[in-house]
Amino acid sequence: MIQKNCPICNTREYSKKVYDKKLPLDLNDANFAGRKDPDGYHYEMMRCSKCSLLYASEIYDEEYSNKLYDESTFDYSDELKGLTKSYSFALKEGLKLSLNQRENFLEIGCGNGFMLEEALRLGFKNAQGIEPSKEAIKFARDDIKKNILHGIFDSSKLKENHYDVVFVAMIIEHVVDANKFLRDIYKILKPGGIVLCVCHNERHILSKILKDKHPIINDEHAAVFNKKALEIIFKKNNYINITISNLKNFYSLNYWFKMMPMPSIFKKIYNFIFSKIFKNFILGFKAGNLYLIAKKN
Ligand SMILES: [Zn+2]
Repeated sequence: MIQKNCPICNTREYSKKVYDKKLPLDLNDANFAGRKDPDGYHYEMMRCSKCSLLYASEIYDEEYSNKLYDESTFDYSDELKGLTKSYSFALKEGLKLSLNQRENFLEIGCGNGFMLEEALRLGFKNAQGIEPSKEAIKFARDDIKKNILHGIFDSSKLKENHYDVVFVAMIIEHVVDANKFLRDIYKILKPGGIVLCVCHNERHILSKILKDKHPIINDEHAAVFNKKALEIIFKKNNYINITISNLKNFYSLNYWFKMMPMPSIFKKIYNFIFSKIFKNFILGFKAGNLYLIAKKN
């Protein structure tokens, strides 16, 4: 395990423990799949009173987490329509504030590339993606597959000052060093280019009620942000014109049900009787996700 300080303040001086550690005894039970069934595992979480960030005090080492991401499954294909709708809205908002150049688009953690398809639909000339899960890439459309680089984001493999838009959704919580991650994105953006970051809001009312039962408190998340902490960390890494808004998420009713903390017997009954009936029923509301738009100077 790697010990962590507050990634923003670089110290534990102002931090207090919020949640005790709850990890599987057998490491084979760890699962880093995106949008998995919540398994209740999470790191010990601390809150820094200076910057308000909630972060894990120790996390699996990078080699082990990368192995889990590499092996992770892709089982949210039913949700792609809803996800595209939510993320596309955020992307269009971002494009309004950018120079509106649509040459090079990059998504870090692109799954099967559904947002690369959307970027091309919106007129980008090139849409490139990086994805650590081999399984997710298998589900990519044939013409998109060649644009996806398998692995963890490594800026040294990409051109500097090259991208008009870098899109990252539900990734910043996962990275071992969030400052390095943001510095690396800065390097590859064109001057005036924008980063669009979708992430959880751990100060949303649902998080306050559910506490560590909320699926965002889990063993894949090295830190979980809120509006204040998110703004501070982007400012610290030289981004300008930062705006943060609540994102409306569109998911199937089945997904909302899957993520709800309740005994598994209810979920089984629901799946048996209702999941087929409600398969195409998509529901959108602001359930605690944020999107940030920021610019490279
Ligand atoms: Zn702090």
